[in-house]
Amino acid sequence: MTLPPLTLYLAAPRGFCAGVDRAIKIVELALQKWGAPVYVRHEIVHNKFVVDDLRAKGAVFVEELDECPDDRPVIFSAHGVPKSVPAAAQARAMIAVDATCPLVTKVHNEAARHSADGLQMVMIGHEGHPETVGTMGQLPEGEVVLVETEADVAGLVVRDPSKLAYITQTTLSVDDTAGIVAALQARFPAIVGPHKEDICYATTNRQAAVKAIAPKIDALLVIGAPNSSNSKRLVEVGRAAGCAYAQLVQRAVDIDWRALEGIGAVGITAGASAPEVLVNEVIDAFRARYDTTVELVETAQETVEFKVPRVLRESV
Ligand code: SF4
Repeated sequence: MTLPPLTLYLAAPRGFCAGVDRAIKIVELALQKWGAPVYVRHEIVHNKFVVDDLRAKGAVFVEELDECPDDRPVIFSAHGVPKSVPAAAQARAMIAVDATCPLVTKVHNEAARHSADGLQMVMIGHEGHPETVGTMGQLPEGEVVLVETEADVAGLVVRDPSKLAYITQTTLSVDDTAGIVAALQARFPAIVGPHKEDICYATTNRQAAVKAIAPKIDALLVIGAPNSSNSKRLVEVGRAAGCAYAQLVQRAVDIDWRALEGIGAVGITAGASAPEVLVNEVIDAFRARYDTTVELVETAQETVEFKVPRVLRESV
C-alpha cells in the first residue's frame, strides 16, 4: 500500500528544560540515597509519563506536606513552594530537598528584594498554578497582587501606585506578557521591572521555535500535559502565528487522525516537561500512516544545566 506523503517539521528546542531535568534527577538520586519511599509534594513536573515512571521507582506524590510521614524525605517540586512549606518541614525535623527550578528561585529572590525596598509586588501569572502560589507565598498576604490579563490591570487596587514592582510566572506567553507589562507601565509609570526577564529561556526558546515552523505547517501538535502552563502557551502561540489547527496531545493515542486528513505538513513540539520518548512515539505513529519526511527546524541551541543540591551531589 502506498502511504500518502507528509512532512513533519520538528521544532528545536523542544521538550525537557534544565529545570525539569534537574528535578527528575533529584528524585532519582534521593531514591538512590535514602531508598523508597521518597515523598514528593506536588507532581515533580507536569507530566503523567514522568510521574508514573518515578512512582514505579518508589516516589510517592502528595499534594500537601501533612500527607508525608516525619521520618521519610520530602522533595518540593520544580514549580517552587510558599515559604510556609519548608518552614513546616523544618519544624517537623524532616529531610527536605528543594527541587525548585533555579529560575523560579530567581523570581522569589527578586520579590523578596523589592519587598525589602518597600515595594508592593504585582505578579503576572495564572491563579492557582503551583508556581504562582509558590511565588506569591514568598511574601506575607497582601504584599503580592495577581494580574492574569491586560483587562485585570485597569481594576487593580494597590497600596501606593508609586511603590510597585512586577514579577512574572516563568512559563507565560512572551507576547501576551508584553501587553500586560505595557498596560502596567501605562497605569503605573513608576513600576519597577525585573533586572532580567522572568519568563525563562526554555519558554522563550520553545515559543520562538513554534513561530518559526508555523508558516510551513497545516497543523501543530504540542506534546504536553493539560496542566502544563508552558505547553498550553505553545498551543496558543501556534494559533496566534496562524496555525488554525493546534492541539495539545499527551501521547500518540490522543492524535485526532480525522482532523489531520488531507494535510501535508505537521509541526511537532513538546512542552518543557515532556520527555523525548513521547516525541518519538508521535513520530512513529505518523510513520505508520504516512510516507513521512522529518525536517528539524532549529532556532536556538540550549546548553543550560543546573546542579542538583549538594546533599545529593555528595551521595553520588
Ligand atoms: S520551564 Fe523554565 S522555569 Fe520552568 S523548570 Fe524549565 S527552565 Fe525552569
